[in-house]
Amino acid sequence: MPVKALIFDVEGTLFKSKSLTDAYRNQVLKFVSEKTGLDGEALLREVRRVISELRREGYEQRPPSTLIAERLGVTKEEFYSAIDAVDPADHVDPDPELTSVLKELKKSFKLAVLTNLSRKGLTGVLRALRLSEDVFDVVLTADDLEALKPHVSAFIKVVEALGVSPEEAVMVGDIVASDLSPAKSLGMKTVLVSEEQVDSPHVDLTVRHVAELKNKIRLLQ
Ligand SMILES: [Mg+2]
Repeated sequence: MPVKALIFDVEGTLFKSKSLTDAYRNQVLKFVSEKTGLDGEALLREVRRVISELRREGYEQRPPSTLIAERLGVTKEEFYSAIDAVDPADHVDPDPELTSVLKELKKSFKLAVLTNLSRKGLTGVLRALRLSEDVFDVVLTADDLEALKPHVSAFIKVVEALGVSPEEAVMVGDIVASDLSPAKSLGMKTVLVSEEQVDSPHVDLTVRHVAELKNKIRLLQ
């Protein structure tokens, strides 16, 4: 089936910033600490317990921070108010190469964003990258989703909004369990953005940077 649409995760996929990830995590930890009264070693121990619990449930790479926060008793509203206090511009640099690659891909494919960031968080990230939202035909954020990734309903919603079948869509993400496995279960093709090769039946292609898609996307056609 020919590829008609590319769907991108955002954090770790369109850009990588350890500093932004750390800033998000610190905000959430500060919030959990205020809420539970745990701090220092006790707080870290509780976070580690939740992370190992999620690893046992199949999130072998980084478990999604939304799930970690939920298990720590933080509501969705509280989680986003905590992380949206971070300004991505302090942590993310403009990426002209990303903009030019996406514009190039837009000539042949419909493009979408599927992110667990809030609308506000995504707007901040795109502004920091100096990437116009207009390059995407469909943008779905946590504000638009009833259930966040890895729930399959998020993936069904994005292909429906694009007007393509799952078999005509490629999901591009950096986490196999939350971006690629659910997409694969619906019949989508999958691209992992990673420095390392991950041996998984849910990964069709691995690239180090989204820019490589320009030449490699034909391998999935
Ligand atoms: Mg990601």
